[in-house]
Amino acid sequence: MGFDPDQPGVKEAVLWEPLPGGRVKCNLCHRHCVIVQDAYGACGVRYNYEGRLYTLVYGMLTAANPDPIEKKPLTHFHPGAYVFSISTVGCNFYCKFCQNWVLSQTRRERVYGELFTPEEVVEQAISKGCVGVSYTYNEPTVFYEFMHDVALLAKEKGLFNTIVTNGYMTLEAIRMLRGLIDAATVDFKASGNKDFYRKFMGVPDPEPIFDSILEMKKQGWWIEITNLIVPEVGDGEEDLKRLAEWVRDNLGAETPFHLLRFHPEYLLNDLPPTPVKTLEKLAELALETGLKHVYVGNVWGHRLENTYCPSCGNLVVERKGFFITKWKLSSEFKCQVCNYQLNFKGAFHGSRLRDYLIWW
Ligand code: SF4
Repeated sequence: MGFDPDQPGVKEAVLWEPLPGGRVKCNLCHRHCVIVQDAYGACGVRYNYEGRLYTLVYGMLTAANPDPIEKKPLTHFHPGAYVFSISTVGCNFYCKFCQNWVLSQTRRERVYGELFTPEEVVEQAISKGCVGVSYTYNEPTVFYEFMHDVALLAKEKGLFNTIVTNGYMTLEAIRMLRGLIDAATVDFKASGNKDFYRKFMGVPDPEPIFDSILEMKKQGWWIEITNLIVPEVGDGEEDLKRLAEWVRDNLGAETPFHLLRFHPEYLLNDLPPTPVKTLEKLAELALETGLKHVYVGNVWGHRLENTYCPSCGNLVVERKGFFITKWKLSSEFKCQVCNYQLNFKGAFHGSRLRDYLIWW
């Protein structure tokens, strides 16, 4: 069956330019795909039809549900909030270890989803008690048009917007979200090692990510960094130090820096989960660079799930997984022992001790 530009989920894309011979160039991510007629971009959800570029996933959602904001993870932005989390299929990366590969690696003719309008997303977010919307699970760059329209409406209704991204969005695309996105979790793998990105993620060069993060900062987005540590092939100490120093020098020493434990998944099943000792060693190195808020993620009950006051060392926020179980900061996010002003933004939305106890 041929392509129909009027079918559900299809909409003319933004940020593309025509090229001779009916080709188009997509300028949404740093791949800058040049796409011939009747072909897809590398993300598998953008299609050249008669010399124009179309997205295939406008409102075609594969998830629409509330999540704790700590799941993104955002630990210093509106702590304790619930955010309405949406995704589609497709991704501009080809990570062999993707935890959400069923969504991210579904592309081209296999695109699926349940059709939503931006109004429906925002209505559901509000009715389910969420104070923000999160664009997450698969790379939101590939559903940019829908994200933009939902974010605009969410803002009008007083919600904030957060994005979980691999950071490969172009500067132009980030600028077009001016005033709409409030916070970003930028996901690194293997501390941004170039060979790792080439071999295990199908990404030619991670360097442009750093420029994109600087542009996000310029736009006033709250930024937290995650870094997936893959044992044996993506746990280099020099790479970790380089990334931690870059974060310290460019985003500030109090930027939350999350080291995530790898679990074998998808095509990388022959590796073990990251040893906790490796994560602890790398966390120590990150702290030695001067970073103040280094977290360990995907290790239930680890002491580095908690926040400690950078000044007096007092435990100020205790977490178990995505649950806040103790909160000992003032309403202005000051340490109740030494009055140090911690680097948090937004408001505290309440402890989830009760949710934790029910879940447990
Ligand atoms: S968004 Fe998709 S089509 Fe556009 S440059 Fe990136 S991978 Fe290519």
